Amino acid sequence: MKEDFDELYEKIRAGKVEREDALFLAHKPFYLFRIADELRKEKNGDVVTYLVNRNINFTNICVGTCKFCAFREEKEKGYMLSMDAVLSKVEEAVNNEATEICVQGGLHPNLVVDNYCEIIETIKSHFDVHIHAYSPMEIYHAARNSDMSEEEVLKALKKAGLGSIPGTAAEILDDSIRGIICPKKLKTDKWVEIIKTAHRLGIPSTATIMYGHIESLENRIDHIFKIQEIQKDTGGFTEFVPLKFMRKNNELGRMVNRNLSFLEDAILHALARVILHPYCTNLQVSWVKLGVRDAQRMLYFGVNDMGGTLMEESISRLSGSLAGEYMSPEDFERVIKDAGRTPKRRTTLYEIN
Ligand code: SF4
Repeated sequence: MKEDFDELYEKIRAGKVEREDALFLAHKPFYLFRIADELRKEKNGDVVTYLVNRNINFTNICVGTCKFCAFREEKEKGYMLSMDAVLSKVEEAVNNEATEICVQGGLHPNLVVDNYCEIIETIKSHFDVHIHAYSPMEIYHAARNSDMSEEEVLKALKKAGLGSIPGTAAEILDDSIRGIICPKKLKTDKWVEIIKTAHRLGIPSTATIMYGHIESLENRIDHIFKIQEIQKDTGGFTEFVPLKFMRKNNELGRMVNRNLSFLEDAILHALARVILHPYCTNLQVSWVKLGVRDAQRMLYFGVNDMGGTLMEESISRLSGSLAGEYMSPEDFERVIKDAGRTPKRRTTLYEIN
């Protein structure tokens, strides 16, 4: 068995892992965890990074129908932040040493590309801060509302000062799953096309997976291989972020009668490290979704980044996330050191501050 293990380890180190290997390892968690931890050590050493940032969810008005969403509201009941409100949130963040502002919102029926650009331009004209904004779904929505291509929208956003985009709205990149959990959302091919176009235009992005609902282990593995394929092609992903499905206050949560165990969370994170090695070497854990304690434990399963301070995260809270809305840099430092690792503050693009 030792020889088999060594052979498989060398194959993974060389970036040649196959679907069957991942499936095999998912059922041999102790081998998987050992490999994931070795690869993390090789690429990231003992450094664990975090970011000082702020989320701004500028509107919850949305024409989407995602069954996992507890955030969206009809036009009559929802909110849309004024520019002044956005600016005062950015000011508060910058005063707290934030280097990134993450802007995302619902799919407001009236918003066109100029509105999306205006938010970025206004922030950029007042503050020197990195703008990480608009998921592929928002870009798709802006393109349709503005009668433009997604490429034209991305170019306009870049010109306005966009620094990078969140690779959210990926959920599970399989149309048979998407058709059930988010039937009106962009299809897999479109998500991939928008991400690749952004990367080609010099706009990096994160990559995500939303796991723990109706998808199978095979679906998760196939999703991560899709991310690997894109990364081999463009190199534009800064990190991969597993996002555990939050089941409170949403239709999908009422449909799904299971809660993933800690072991299943660990297997998913470790599989991501193994499949994405050596193409995408930053694996982030979401403390908002898992809670700070389990997020800290994930550092032993291939994770090297703990994400951002956030200062505001209404989307997960409304779906039952137990973690708070803000984790201070001091908390990050303490949690990382308590795990025996070295904390380092980073920028969105992984420069160490
Ligand atoms: S997840 Fe986003 S796009 Fe889907 S309904 Fe909620 S706010 Fe709208």
